[in-house]
Amino acid sequence: MEWIELHNTAFGDCTVLGGKDEMLMVDCGSLNAVLAQGACTFADYARGLAKRYAAVGTRYGMVTHFHKDHVNGFTFILQEDPAFFRQIYLPPAPQDTNGNPLLLEFALFVYAFVTEKSDYSELVDNMVTAFSRMGGLSGTERLAVLCRGDRFDLCGVTYEVLWPPQTEYPYTDGFCCLVEQANELLTATWGGYAELFLRYKDAFCDGYLRCVDLFSPYSTAALEEKEAAVLALEAILREIDGLIYELNGLPAAQDVAELVGSQKARMLFGKELNGSSVIFQNRRQGGLFGRRHTREDILFTGDATPQTMEEIAELLHDRYYAVKAPHHGTESHWWEGWRTMEIRHMLISNGRHSAGGLISEEYALLPAIKHCTDCERCRWYLERGKSCNRKKKCRENTHISRRVKRCPANRPEQTDPMCGCRIYTVGPFGTYACDCGIKPDML
Ligand SMILES: [Zn+2]
Ligand SMILES: [Zn+2]
Ligand SMILES: [Zn+2]
Ligand SMILES: [Zn+2]
Repeated sequence: MEWIELHNTAFGDCTVLGGKDEMLMVDCGSLNAVLAQGACTFADYARGLAKRYAAVGTRYGMVTHFHKDHVNGFTFILQEDPAFFRQIYLPPAPQDTNGNPLLLEFALFVYAFVTEKSDYSELVDNMVTAFSRMGGLSGTERLAVLCRGDRFDLCGVTYEVLWPPQTEYPYTDGFCCLVEQANELLTATWGGYAELFLRYKDAFCDGYLRCVDLFSPYSTAALEEKEAAVLALEAILREIDGLIYELNGLPAAQDVAELVGSQKARMLFGKELNGSSVIFQNRRQGGLFGRRHTREDILFTGDATPQTMEEIAELLHDRYYAVKAPHHGTESHWWEGWRTMEIRHMLISNGRHSAGGLISEEYALLPAIKHCTDCERCRWYLERGKSCNRKKKCRENTHISRRVKRCPANRPEQTDPMCGCRIYTVGPFGTYACDCGIKPDML
């Protein structure tokens, strides 16, 4: 990695890791239709990204999980240029100890029984149609699924995927219980459409797992085989579509809809989905040159929960050049483990949204340089009127002979890749700072 661009997509994630003529865009999404007052729409911003990186030779994309604030931008980019990404990495469908892909199963219940259009229905649509939709936008040959143990290369560095495991996934009891309840409501309904739905649901899950298998980066399957598997999956979904009217006339339909559509279920599902985000790091810890980190040591966490971070704690390095804070740095996803490792730069993407929490003050106390995309969402900044970096200044400079007091990246429109931390915050108002405390409108 030679540079990182952390995009200010308001409440959402879009981070681009780059080097010599290669880049990886980890997530691209926003919950905000308009990025800020006087700024462009998110759709236009995402379309602009296709142009921004057009000159980079080889581009990869990654979806850590299917929440809108991580995924909706890909559509706009791919509408501009279907061949924009050489490969798009998708998350798997983790199976519990019995082999059931519970997240996917649950999504199918919502798909069939919560019929009014909302962010919730859009989310499950995105999940269940992932292969056909992404394949339709960019070509099936460009899709790959990553899960724990898989590796990929970027700019000469090998990265390993730490999470999620495809099998034996540790779903929380609350979520297991929820899926079981939904299944029970329908198995208790005698015969007919309920039984048919349950059969299609199983067939769909099998078909999806087959795709996960075929789209592994190590798969030797021919493109025709992959395309046929995606078409077969589509066909089952069409069968389910054809059942929806009858299904919703069943006596149990109301109960299923109330169960899977409840506030509690949405929360459990959302949390489970966050916890299953794709997490990766460089495979081998880089060396230290003098007292400086090598830029290789990088950890990306999607919207990982503290529970997930605990699960992978033993696999993590002692020190990182840059870490993407999980779940927009909110209090709810703060992990105590960050205190025990040496982190140079903490990337925190947060923005205005009614449901999104502020950036936790805990980050302010870490010795890392924080890169908050929006100071107005940083609790420390709001309450004290000062950057969460406190007095700490980014002192990175690759020119050993020159001493810098302040990171050269910490200046508006500074894009010299040879200077400073090379971590840039990019937003609709331009490239503006390397740390929290400098707002674009103050420049
Ligand atoms: Zn999420
Ligand atoms: Zn998110
Ligand atoms: Zn901050
Ligand atoms: Zn810097």
